[in-house]
Amino acid sequence: MKVLVLNCGSSSVKYQLLEMENESLLARGLLERIGTNDAVLTHQATGKKEVTRTFPVPDHKTAVKEVLSILFDPAYGVIKDVTEISAVGHRVVHAGEEFSGSVLLSTEVKEALKRCIQLAPLHNPPNLLGIEAAEALLPGTPQVGVFDTAFHANMPRHAFLYALPLELYEKYGIRRYGFHGTSHRYVAARAAELAGRNLNELKIITCHLGNGASITAIDGGQVADTSMGFTPLEGLVMGTRCGDLDPAIIPFLMEKEGLDIAGINRLINKGSGLLGLSGISNDMREIEEAAEKGSTRAVDALNVLVHRLRKYIGAYAAVLDGVDILVFTAGIGENSVKVRSLVCQGFSYLGLYIDEEKNRSPKKEKEISTPDSRVKVYVIPTNEELVIARDAAEIVSSLGQAPK
Ligand code: ADP
Repeated sequence: MKVLVLNCGSSSVKYQLLEMENESLLARGLLERIGTNDAVLTHQATGKKEVTRTFPVPDHKTAVKEVLSILFDPAYGVIKDVTEISAVGHRVVHAGEEFSGSVLLSTEVKEALKRCIQLAPLHNPPNLLGIEAAEALLPGTPQVGVFDTAFHANMPRHAFLYALPLELYEKYGIRRYGFHGTSHRYVAARAAELAGRNLNELKIITCHLGNGASITAIDGGQVADTSMGFTPLEGLVMGTRCGDLDPAIIPFLMEKEGLDIAGINRLINKGSGLLGLSGISNDMREIEEAAEKGSTRAVDALNVLVHRLRKYIGAYAAVLDGVDILVFTAGIGENSVKVRSLVCQGFSYLGLYIDEEKNRSPKKEKEISTPDSRVKVYVIPTNEELVIARDAAEIVSSLGQAPK
């Protein structure tokens, strides 16, 4: 069974085509600059050369059409025609309290996702455009929605409620939702597999450290807490987002700096985090380089990020009453030897120790804890697309349709 995975952003579509029999990647690509005359498609079929094409792409429907065309292009494609695609799995950011798992997309489900637009005004609309485009271009092919929030949906009430008047939760749905759920779910399950243990008996802390960053406490496969909240702004220090902040700073800054709502939103979402602290970059590679050359602002940025993360790990060890496994994933988690090293220092009270040689090893998926460490520490490259494809394949199989 072949599954197409689509991740539609406001001006881009990321895609992968997977063969689910052996979970192999057939092709992957990215179409950027949708809505312009010089959109760029970068496509790679496994084992073939990467190709780049530039052409006008006015909207998401054209974008998905172009993705399908290159997938059955005689030179660069991997299938004969679209009927070979048995299901489409869509990454959808926000399912609010509507869904706690992946679902077959129907008119009712799309209506529910439209109700969630107020919670994710930048993300859900392009996700929905991608769904509608795929439905129009692949009529009759099952479409499945896989939500960033779903894994966190059953987080306990004491973890998702803010200490605001309760009426505001009831009126506006102001609560903690959590994001990156597909990634946390994947790496937690993979960590249990690597440890040769059952997920149901493990206490796991997963750190997804990319441009956006979040940490999740997982008890027996269920989310006990996660750092992102009502929006992906809460929690850790990120590339350009501030993470946790005294909320009183917002009105203070609006008054002192004469900022309106858009201005303050820009500041905390686009101008803070590593970029705001360092004044150099939101890219950890550049921060590390500048810190080594003695930039005190870069050192600050690195130290604040590490300190915040260590605080959360300690807090989540308390939430879980212990930790069996700590996982690092996403761009910084997978690649930054320095961040992993700094974060893992000073956890002797947890019995957590890493082996610096293993930490430096070029292997992508690896255990970096010492043999006598009570907590196993893993680096696991995330694979959200695989989870989306697995969920889509499972839902389609349960429909009883003969896989194509
Ligand atoms: P996104 O959230 O955009 O998907 P990624 O998961 O790709 O983000 O992570 C991007 C981050 O990973 C950037 O801060 C980048 O600097 C960092 N990163 C990538 N490679 C390295 C590396 N070798 N060393 C340190 N940081 C890295």
